[in-house]
Amino acid sequence: MVIKTATYLISSPDYTKCPKPVFPEYAFIGRSNVGKSSLINLLTNNEKLAKTSGTPGKTQLINHFEINNSWYLVDLPGYGFAKRSMSQRKQWEKMIEDYLRKRENLVNVFVLIDSRHNPQKIDIDFVNQLGEWEIPFSLVFTKADKSTQAEVSRNIKAFLNKMKETWQFLPPHFVTSTVKKSGRDAILDYIEELNIQ
Ligand code: GDP
Repeated sequence: MVIKTATYLISSPDYTKCPKPVFPEYAFIGRSNVGKSSLINLLTNNEKLAKTSGTPGKTQLINHFEINNSWYLVDLPGYGFAKRSMSQRKQWEKMIEDYLRKRENLVNVFVLIDSRHNPQKIDIDFVNQLGEWEIPFSLVFTKADKSTQAEVSRNIKAFLNKMKETWQFLPPHFVTSTVKKSGRDAILDYIEELNIQ
């Protein structure tokens, strides 16, 4: 897919305030600092579209971008930010659950996983939760340039093996590096495929 236009629309405190669901929608989420903003900027060819934040976990808003006047890209606030208070966490949980379960035009959630690590409980718990809610998702293993290829492959395999303990089918997965600018086309082609269906 060629990205012709990518425009920031609005940041919403909950799903009821999101733009009218006139386009198919693709959401990106992951642990804070996983590389989500960098990936969104790579996908849209715009260094500044999503803000790579110096203060991770600060914004708890649902950010909408309109791409090619035909689909929405959504930047969701990340999880696992240690400095959040309990009430902020509860607020995050409610906002995310409502958005994920009620947003009618949501086609797919891309769950970002840091490829440098062994499977982390917080990520496994999150994808299992998506499964319980029957929300389609894919995995994106980020920062692939930071480890050797063998290490990245080992971590991906370990994550998928962990998922196999509870999942009969495994979701599609992608590997990205915003430094090497890799993985972009595979994700955009996948979105294009889903848009056609
Ligand atoms: P977010 O909090 O998930 O939006 O993460 P950011 O996109 O702000 O990235 C967090 C940090 O990881 C920043 O310092 C980025 O420069 C760095 N980063 C993100 N993606 C990559 C990547 O693919 N490779 C490398 N080496 N660093 C990355």
